[in-house]
Amino acid sequence: MTNTPFDGDLSYPASTIARLTAIIELAPMAIVMIDNQGRILLMNKEAEVLFGYRRDELLGRPVELLIPLEFQAGHPALRRNFFTNPRPRRMGAGRDLFGLRKDGSKFPVEIGLNPIETEDSLFVLSAIVDITERKRLENLFRATVESAPTAMVMIDKGGSIVIVNAETEKLFGYSRSELLGRHVEELIPERFRMAHPQMRTRFFAAPEARRMGIGRDLFGLRKDGSEFPVEIGLNPIETEEGLFVLSAIVDITERKRLETALRQTNELLEQRVQQRTVELTAQAEKLRRSNEALERSNIELQQFAYIASHDLQSPLRSISGFVQLLRAEYTGRLDAQADDWIARTVQSIQLMHTLIQDLLAYSRIESLARPLKRLRFRDIFNDAVSLLDAAITEAGAQVTCDELPVVIGDRSQLVQLLHNLIGNALKYHGADAPRVHVSAEHRGNDWVFSVSDNGVGIEPQYYEKIFEIFQRLHNQQEYPGTGIGLAVCRRVVHRHGGKIWVESVRCQGSQFYFTLPERTEYDT
Ligand code: ADP
Repeated sequence: MTNTPFDGDLSYPASTIARLTAIIELAPMAIVMIDNQGRILLMNKEAEVLFGYRRDELLGRPVELLIPLEFQAGHPALRRNFFTNPRPRRMGAGRDLFGLRKDGSKFPVEIGLNPIETEDSLFVLSAIVDITERKRLENLFRATVESAPTAMVMIDKGGSIVIVNAETEKLFGYSRSELLGRHVEELIPERFRMAHPQMRTRFFAAPEARRMGIGRDLFGLRKDGSEFPVEIGLNPIETEEGLFVLSAIVDITERKRLETALRQTNELLEQRVQQRTVELTAQAEKLRRSNEALERSNIELQQFAYIASHDLQSPLRSISGFVQLLRAEYTGRLDAQADDWIARTVQSIQLMHTLIQDLLAYSRIESLARPLKRLRFRDIFNDAVSLLDAAITEAGAQVTCDELPVVIGDRSQLVQLLHNLIGNALKYHGADAPRVHVSAEHRGNDWVFSVSDNGVGIEPQYYEKIFEIFQRLHNQQEYPGTGIGLAVCRRVVHRHGGKIWVESVRCQGSQFYFTLPERTEYDT
């Protein structure tokens, strides 16, 4: 049919044709007019350009010449339809329309149809717009939406879904065909559904790109009825067909889960911290009370030690005087038993005297404390050794030392400390002659001194106990002593801000360690 040559017999009044031609010639879009036979009666310049024909090649020819082959067959019927019910309208609503150029190329078009009635006949004026560029942009837009890594849903003003991407199918569990045309409210849990159309209307009234439902928790509803928390971004999209909203939907289930887990962990942590704080406060309070009690009992003990030792001195002195007299006057004049008793009494008095001296020394560590001074520890060593001269010679002992540092301290107390430690090292010797060595080592901010011996050693369970007052591991016969010496050592070291401890191997010897802070200033 399209190839039927036009016979040129267009028996319409020339005046009508001329008038219409003048009207359409300069219109900014392609216009083609046909008669009820489908013949082209007139066309304008734009139409020539659009289809690539000269006017004289088309006038009188069937309009189907301008339609791609695959649509040609159905066209006459559509055309006749229009002529039976002529009214201005868009052509092919919902269908994609195409034009055919002279060179055989196809292009997408949009066509508006207008019936024109003259006294002679009915014509159709069709305005044809090339929508190649618009289609290209639309395809680009669809491809962009499709490739987005988040679910994207575009709805029209009525809330109907017009575009979705693959992510949306995955997220909501519907296929694309199930989603298109569906109301967006169906993707929202029922309890929020009622309020949604109103919000939608509000958005369309004042469209701007923004987050949806700020401050509210949003949820999506899957096809299977399950819900999930979402975050939604809204974007108004202006098109020739009106305003749309493109929403990007992100499933935030995992984020919510992490938030909850984090909150719970924080709460738990806070609870633990609170609980621990309460416990620690209670412990600290207990410690404070027991420290106070200890302090009190220490003071009481010192006072007692001082009073007792001080007050015992004078009766002991007179007992000692009388016993000396007894021994001088009566030894050999009474029987042997009496002599033995007198000798033992003298010994006990001697022991008692030592005990009182030791107790006095112990109780006076604080009260007789002198300001700390810069001292060469080597001098302290020398003093202690000369005080022990007789004992060293008697035991055939060797007492040596390394190079010793300068320290800050109370001279007589440090001499007493070293005297007690070296004295013990001599006293608690084993089978071999005692060998005692004093050395010092710099560690952090401290000097660590050691006094080592090759004596009897100490079992680990007594490492702490021996520093307590009156605690002895040996009896008087074996090794005489009062059990006060190490308690004095500990108090002297504490007063200097250090600590004292022992390490030992039984039968091989002991190392007593004590620290003195390395001070750069003189303290008092
Ligand atoms: P004392 O020597 O008067 O008994 P101390 O307080 O000096 O009192 O010592 C407490 C106890 O520690 C001693 O009775 C002894 O058993 C043990 N001890 C102290 N120094 C040594 C040492 N160098 N080797 C082995 N035992 C020791």
